[in-house]
Amino acid sequence: MAPKRIDALRVSRPNGFKLDDYDTADTLGWHKDGALAELEHVKLKLDALQQRLAAERRSSVLLVLQAMDAAGKDGTIRSILSGLNPAGVMVTSFKVPAGIEADHDYLWRTHQACPVAGDIGVFNRSHYEDVLVVRVKGLVPRSTWSKRFRHINEFERLLHDEGTRVVKCFLNVSKSEQARRLQDRLDDPTKGWKFREGDLADRKLWPKFRRAYEDAIGQTSTAHAPWYVVPADHNWVRNLAVAKILLSTLQDIGPQFPPADPHVINTKIV
Ligand code: ADP
Repeated sequence: MAPKRIDALRVSRPNGFKLDDYDTADTLGWHKDGALAELEHVKLKLDALQQRLAAERRSSVLLVLQAMDAAGKDGTIRSILSGLNPAGVMVTSFKVPAGIEADHDYLWRTHQACPVAGDIGVFNRSHYEDVLVVRVKGLVPRSTWSKRFRHINEFERLLHDEGTRVVKCFLNVSKSEQARRLQDRLDDPTKGWKFREGDLADRKLWPKFRRAYEDAIGQTSTAHAPWYVVPADHNWVRNLAVAKILLSTLQDIGPQFPPADPHVINTKIV
């Protein structure tokens, strides 16, 4: 099978979007050894583009990662960002809003965590929790969360217009693969700390979460802030796919090193 282009994962026809149309175990026509080698190559390109992005200080990138438990948000972050300059990357993990966060509107903390010009920001969970978990668990009424799709589209439009490229990945793991990974967490003493009792309660809500994801992705995959549905049953597919999505976003920005100051260009250091 010819390798699929990463564009095939992009949600470009949001109407009637169904997660069942996306195979969680898709290998995208890649082979594991080749994909692992290619990931290293993609990371070198990411590093080179990050240097330009930081030097230019005109644009930024916001990579949003959302997923059901154990789909591998943390593993993806470790895998694809490990070759980058940490000074230019900011990862924010969003938890249940508390204190001053809970006293503000739901986008307040999100906006504060957005990357400055020249940086790559990564959201491990995000403002999408405010149309996902809050909906599934009935934390706010429908009349409140249903308005948020419009807020989110407008907010992401604002970010885009002001120089932040927003790209969103849903790491799409199957229910059976999630079971295997949660069991592994229980059985492996080095992974037990990752297991929360709430994971089992959330697993029971699987169909409700899937429906909420379908709605959220369908309503907020826009030209200025697209969603990609990334097959996540194989870690090596997931990692390479997200790395390529980030790479194509950076390539699209096309950051350049600014020219040296003409006043110093012929200076000889003695
Ligand atoms: P993770 O599962 O991402 O590795 P945690 O185990 O700390 O990290 O879980 C974070 C929890 O915070 C998740 O259950 C998530 O649903 C919850 N959360 C994040 N944002 C919100 C929000 N806006 N409202 C309610 N719960 C939220």
